[in-house]
Amino acid sequence: MNIIVLGAPGAGKGTQASIIAQKLELKKFSTGDMLRAEVASGSELGNKVQNIMNSGELVSDEIMIGVIVEQISSLDDSKGFILDGFPRTIAQAVNLDKILEEKECKVDCVLAFDVDFDVLVERLAGRIYCKDCGTTFHEVFSPPKQGGICDNCGSVNLVRRDDDKREVVTARLNKYLEMTEPLINYYQDKKNLIIVNGDNDVAKVTQEILKKIELINA
Ligand code: AMP
Repeated sequence: MNIIVLGAPGAGKGTQASIIAQKLELKKFSTGDMLRAEVASGSELGNKVQNIMNSGELVSDEIMIGVIVEQISSLDDSKGFILDGFPRTIAQAVNLDKILEEKECKVDCVLAFDVDFDVLVERLAGRIYCKDCGTTFHEVFSPPKQGGICDNCGSVNLVRRDDDKREVVTARLNKYLEMTEPLINYYQDKKNLIIVNGDNDVAKVTQEILKKIELINA
């Protein structure tokens, strides 16, 4: 099964993508994580995209399609994949369909996270993550059990993303509305869209997703 998670920054799509990938044994691709790794490594691509990411803008379709082609062509005969953060524009979605068609597969379902915008701003402003294993926390809603220490790997490297600063958050949300939200209609027309209520807590959202996926598989 091949799944796309779609939603505004802070909607919880990254968290749910990791959980669902584990439960359904899917390969997870997160374009945001990939780009952050490129920036951290100081690669040519990383240097090219760093300022774009820090300002809340989108990296060009050309670069992103190149990144995703490479990832998808590396797929073996595993059970499928879950894409977090791609596509983010209609051009990316159209290209993804083409790439998958060449591999004789398709997007089976798109999980669109519906979350109130005020909630998103609050979530992003308090978000911290572990630089070593990627686990995400929230300073107020889901802090690490022991202050400053990652529950998952014990690292003390808990940091805030550069693009989670308040002024950048607004730019990212506006970019989402302008460039990414139209994908909801794109996938609705293809009849593989599932709307998920992302306002609930993590476990409830996972339950809702698994139930809805079961229904389309039935
Ligand atoms: P994310 O972790 O998904 O919020 O992505 C962080 C940043 O990476 C975004 O704000 C964009 O600058 C860039 N990015 C990630 N995925 C894409 C994409 N599919 N298209 C364009 N830019 C992207």
